[in-house]
Amino acid sequence: MHKQTENSKDGEKQKLTAKEILKEQWFLTTLCFHAAPRGMAFHIFESVKLQVSIFFEFIWMINYTLGIAERGGPWKQFFWCMVLFMAAVFVSTVSFAYYKQSALPRMTPVLHQAFRMHIYERTKNLDLACYDDTEFYQKFILAAEESDSCIDRYLETLEIYCSGITTFVLSLGFCLAMNPLILLVTAGNLFLSLWIAGRENRLQIASRMERLPYEQKREYQNRVFYLSDYAKDLRLYPGMQEKCSQDFNESQKEIRRIHRTYGKKLFVYGSIREAAGTVYLEQVLSWSLLLYQVLVLHTLTYAAMLSSLKASSYVSESTKAMIAGWKKAAENAAYVKRIQSLTDMAPSVISKKNLPASSHPAAFDLRHVTFSYQPGKPVLHDISLHIGAKQKIALVGYNGSGKTTLVKLLLRLYDPDSGSICCNGTDIRDFAVESYRHSIGSVFQDFKIYAASLKENVLLDISRHTKQESYDVEKALFDAHFTLQDHRLRYQIETPLTTEFEKDGVNLSGGEMQKVAIARTLYRRQNLIIMDEPSSALDPLAEYELNQELNEIAQDQTVVFISHRLSTTRDADCIYMMEQGRIIEAGTHEKLLAAGGKYAGMWKVQAGLYLDS
Ligand code: ADP
Repeated sequence: MHKQTENSKDGEKQKLTAKEILKEQWFLTTLCFHAAPRGMAFHIFESVKLQVSIFFEFIWMINYTLGIAERGGPWKQFFWCMVLFMAAVFVSTVSFAYYKQSALPRMTPVLHQAFRMHIYERTKNLDLACYDDTEFYQKFILAAEESDSCIDRYLETLEIYCSGITTFVLSLGFCLAMNPLILLVTAGNLFLSLWIAGRENRLQIASRMERLPYEQKREYQNRVFYLSDYAKDLRLYPGMQEKCSQDFNESQKEIRRIHRTYGKKLFVYGSIREAAGTVYLEQVLSWSLLLYQVLVLHTLTYAAMLSSLKASSYVSESTKAMIAGWKKAAENAAYVKRIQSLTDMAPSVISKKNLPASSHPAAFDLRHVTFSYQPGKPVLHDISLHIGAKQKIALVGYNGSGKTTLVKLLLRLYDPDSGSICCNGTDIRDFAVESYRHSIGSVFQDFKIYAASLKENVLLDISRHTKQESYDVEKALFDAHFTLQDHRLRYQIETPLTTEFEKDGVNLSGGEMQKVAIARTLYRRQNLIIMDEPSSALDPLAEYELNQELNEIAQDQTVVFISHRLSTTRDADCIYMMEQGRIIEAGTHEKLLAAGGKYAGMWKVQAGLYLDS
């Protein structure tokens, strides 16, 4: 897992080649044209048309009308030219306004959506292991957050190139025809600007790289302030709020310091570019040359002088714009490449095969299973155990002993480093992973309630909305001891949960949410049910009753329970006591108590606590 990540890290340090930049632009072009073909064609048309009209308005018209004035006529030609010109400007302005105010705002969300879907499609099946890899996870978050700006940048770049190429070709052609000499001054100015831009670019990249960790920290601290997940904690522990604002200010201070350091150098380069390039070369030298041609050599008319001066400045401006656009294109290409490579760099620990999952109640055999999240730090050591079909198994032990990790392996959220897990005699790695996972129902401690209706929270599927489904959902909720006769549930199972988007949404208590999570597994009636601390938010009596009920309902299913409260697991067919990633005791409750080992010790402590309370 880590080798792959390091490789890709090295890969990212390499600069993208022109071919790679073009390839990623091509990818964005096909994606956007596919999503909004007419809008994109309009975008290109408007970018080109604008520059054509600017060329006619500011270069060709100056040359033509001044030429007529210098020659003293014919005025009728001038009049008709003006009429035509004004009509063309009117049509062009109206179409541009329509494009900017209506077509572009309608097209942009379609493109954002298309790109987001592309990212989603590429990443939706990433292994859970990816989320354990901090570097990968950070890149993933950044990629997802930046997707809209990537499309905006692409549209901008496309516009820059369409207009740049149009202006460059028209203005260069005009200069070559009217006054090629002026292009020498333009070339000098361009050379100087590019040299300085290269240096500025390097400084800006260095500044950005130095700012990046502080900007990421600042973003995180910002999120802590506005996300509701932290709101309760921050109010209860104002010290943490204090720390966050301090950290935020520290990050801001560092970012300002970096801006100051690089700002000084950028200021020097900027001044040289403006003074030497724009003022001395472009204006003083150009004007001198042109006046010399007009007044001394008499090779140029005033009309040709003014229009060629304008055209030469357009040649240089459009070249500079395209070079700046290349920087944007490169930035975008790096971003797109990062998205594409996310799935390649994703640590793929889940092998993909095609056998359909077994439809019989699951029986499991774990043989010498070892697993580690990070290389060299195993959290499960040589686990061997048998779970019979329809058996009720309990995994117990103190925090961090590896219980949840073991059930994650059963669910194939991870594959073991060594050893094997067989379900009904078949190695679970041979099953198609989606169908296998689908055959298991699970409730974890960190289950999530979604901002959707109660029914959708049980179904976890928005496509199924039949009457039968509603009945089954109600039954699953009933079996999970969730009471629908609550005045807050005004729309029964259609009641929206959470107040995130719905004013009359309902925020459930911890215990109620847990019951909804349990109802999810009861609804599906899968071959194996995994309950990781399913009832920790319930009071002991409610928990006891629910467990009795679950044992009843899941008679024909295999159940693996994890619980801290040994009272909930005492009826299990077999209890496995875990410690530091190993199974240290196994047997029925009575057998383990009689053995007087660690389980018996834990039981005595808990029984004592209950008696005391
Ligand atoms: P339990 O369920 O018994 O409390 P877990 O299986 O959650 O224990 O954790 C076992 C060990 O694995 C702990 O040391 C925990 O810190 C570590 N661990 C759990 N999840 C991860 C993860 N995603 N990445 C790295 N280590 C983890």
